[in-house]
Amino acid sequence: MNECLFCKIVRKEIPAALVYEDDHLLAFKDIFPQAPVHLLIIPKAHCENLGDQTPEIAAAAARIPQVAAKLAADHGVQSSGWRLLCNCGQDAGQVVFHLHFHLLGGKHLGGKLCQ
Ligand code: AMP
Ligand code: ZN
Repeated sequence: MNECLFCKIVRKEIPAALVYEDDHLLAFKDIFPQAPVHLLIIPKAHCENLGDQTPEIAAAAARIPQVAAKLAADHGVQSSGWRLLCNCGQDAGQVVFHLHFHLLGGKHLGGKLCQ
């Protein structure tokens, strides 16, 4: 996936503010933050969204909630609260078609899942 923006971040071809990395996952700050804490957690291997995961990517992505909880603690929002969400496809507003989870916190995020 040579032209995929997040694959380029994985390959360190374009810069990102990395906050976590292991063999299969990467996390970095969202470039247009919607909250004081807005991180993106991605599998390093490319897939478009939760709808086209390979078993290998699914195994890596299964650890994302655990990594998110660690990052929430690291960024001081464990007790105040945080949200982990994943946009899949057009109606969800997905813009970057490399599977990613948004970790949001640091302000009241509102009670609605859609508006
Ligand atoms: P989504 O709408 O779920 O596809 O979200 C894509 C997210 O990627 C948006 O919140 C963007 O602000 C974010 N984004 C786009 N380009 C970059 C980048 N170069 N570095 C960090 N975040 C980015
Ligand atoms: Zn990609």
